[in-house]
Amino acid sequence: MSTKNISYIAIISIMFILLTQGYLVYDYFQTVRFALIRESDAILKEAFRNELNQRNTYYVNSMQQDSIKFDRNDAAGENVMDFDMRKTGMDEESILNKLDIMLHVFLSELIPIDIQKIDSVTGQILINRNINSEYLIQLVNPKNNEVLASSKDLSGGSFFVIPSQLYPLDFEEKEALQLILINPFSEIMKRMGLMLFGSIIFSIISLLAFRFLIQTLAKQKKLVKFKNEFLSNIAHELKRPVASLIVNLDCLKEPDFYNNERMREMMLNNSLNSLTELNGTISMIVGLAKVEEGLLVLNKLPVNLVKLIEDLKNRFVSSPAKRVTLNMHFDSPEVIISADGLMLTQCFANLIDNSIKYSKQEVTIDISVLVHATTVELNFKDTGIGIPADKIDNIFEKYSRVDNNVKMNGFGIGLNYVKTIIEKHGGTIGVISELGVGSDFTIVLPKK
Ligand code: ADP
Repeated sequence: MSTKNISYIAIISIMFILLTQGYLVYDYFQTVRFALIRESDAILKEAFRNELNQRNTYYVNSMQQDSIKFDRNDAAGENVMDFDMRKTGMDEESILNKLDIMLHVFLSELIPIDIQKIDSVTGQILINRNINSEYLIQLVNPKNNEVLASSKDLSGGSFFVIPSQLYPLDFEEKEALQLILINPFSEIMKRMGLMLFGSIIFSIISLLAFRFLIQTLAKQKKLVKFKNEFLSNIAHELKRPVASLIVNLDCLKEPDFYNNERMREMMLNNSLNSLTELNGTISMIVGLAKVEEGLLVLNKLPVNLVKLIEDLKNRFVSSPAKRVTLNMHFDSPEVIISADGLMLTQCFANLIDNSIKYSKQEVTIDISVLVHATTVELNFKDTGIGIPADKIDNIFEKYSRVDNNVKMNGFGIGLNYVKTIIEKHGGTIGVISELGVGSDFTIVLPKK
């Protein structure tokens, strides 16, 4: 399956997960809201009955007439609860409601309803039930929902309210009571907390997993692109010396060239250089692969660095495209250290090759070998295009190339190879460079 299709599937899956989570949270919120409405109904009823009883007691006390007391006994003094409820078709609660309404209608002529009292009783019930919310009690016209009286002023604003059902106060539907919970967020959070927390954590984990997947896919895509570029670069890098070899050998087949001693020598030299370059590139690729697998072994022998560098000179001064000047300075005609000569040659050749590659039409390269007590210091200084300061730290990394408008062959492993080999020898490499002025690579190697 292509990375594009995997991305689409991942996007659809994450959207489905987030939508499902959103729906579950909303559904649970509605359940909590309905539960709060049901509780508000019960609280309002309890508060109203409490206030009604207080009015009733007050009325009875003030009248000093027990006989008028309207305590759920009918006029004949029989308890209403003795009715056969199955005959009325009503349950006990609705009979009680009706009795409350009758008592209220009777009493309200003499002692009007006190919604402030209902408010304070409601507050107490809310505290007892551990419900944390602002609230108010209002008297409403059930026909048009007009608010007739309110226990508190809602001018402070309410972002979100949970109203109870209307509790009728008469049989003609003129007045009804209502409890309103104002901005009950903390109560809702308390009830939804665990579910919300779980849902948020699950969503975050899903989003992180999604991000990781997308990043991995992007990396993989980059890797495939990089692999293709790398292979085509390598192919190009290998083809170049082979092509030059073919041209030189082809010419040598011609008697005119072959019999001309100067031409013959030049072409043989060119062929040899092409083969050396080919060998160097292959050694570098193999060497780095070996380093990665931990299989690189140095074949250390006494090496004369002066001879090794002088031998390289011929290979580069004959560069056909540019004017190359190679200056050499050696502290001594023989600087012997214990090293892998073949690998060091490859490293130095790389540095010189880079100095020529990353320069304009003309370049001067100063190579010096300085002998210290226990180390040898080598400098490769050129008058090339230089390296930008912000890129200089990366140039020794594998596959790192500087985009410097100079389209050059290469695939960014040369300096990494040099650094790896020098460090394998127990040495160090560093560079100082100035854009437009040149670069100066310094290698320090132990003598032994
Ligand atoms: P490659 O030459 O294949 O790009 P290297 O690892 O040899 O890979 O070099 C990495 C980068 O460092 C090059 O792309 C080049 O931009 C920069 N560089 C290396 N040597 C020099 C130099 N002497 N002068 C300027 N830039 C250099």
